[in-house]
Amino acid sequence: MNLIFLGAPGAGKGTQAEVVCKELNIPAISTGNMLREAVKNGTKAGLAAKEFMDRGDLVPDEVVIGILKDRIAEDDAKNGFILDGFPRTVAQAEALEKMGVNIDKVIEIHVADEAITARMSGRRVCEGCGNSYHIEYKPTKVEGICDACGAKVVQRIDDKPETVISRLKTYHEKTAPLKDFYAAKGKLVTVEGQDEIAETSKLTLAAIKG
Ligand code: AMP
Repeated sequence: MNLIFLGAPGAGKGTQAEVVCKELNIPAISTGNMLREAVKNGTKAGLAAKEFMDRGDLVPDEVVIGILKDRIAEDDAKNGFILDGFPRTVAQAEALEKMGVNIDKVIEIHVADEAITARMSGRRVCEGCGNSYHIEYKPTKVEGICDACGAKVVQRIDDKPETVISRLKTYHEKTAPLKDFYAAKGKLVTVEGQDEIAETSKLTLAAIKG
């Protein structure tokens, strides 16, 4: 099953992708995590992406499409995948179609902007494996240390309030039009994000299976 998780930054799509990929036994592919890894490793794509990411802007389509195309060609993605954070523009969605990728469903995790800005200050991410946490809703077992790999858990530079506002603006301008794009194909299902992560997961799994 090929799924897309759509939603504003901070709506919880990454966290839901981590839950659902275990349930369905398919990889969650996060272009954000892949780009952060590329920046950390100083690769060509990473160098091209860094300034955009730090500002909260989208990385140019050709950079992200290239990374995504290579990733979905890997063996573990043969039986399906969850795309978390891709596509983020109509051009990226069209590129997926050109690659011959058939998308079964697009799950939009919807959270109002005001709730997102309030939530984002508590968000933390693992420097090692990219797992996401929240100091209130999904804390690590040991403060500041990733449950999964033991690396340090930090706040992302682009989770600062001023950058979050700019990322939300970008979402509404460039990514939200994808809702109409996929609704017109009968593939869009909207899930209302709940305060409890487990509650959202139940709704998300029901939306996928329904
Ligand atoms: P995320 O972790 O999904 O919030 O992504 C973090 C940052 O990576 C975004 O703010 C963008 O700068 C960049 N990024 C991730 N995915 C994409 C994409 N599909 N298209 C363009 N930029 C992206």
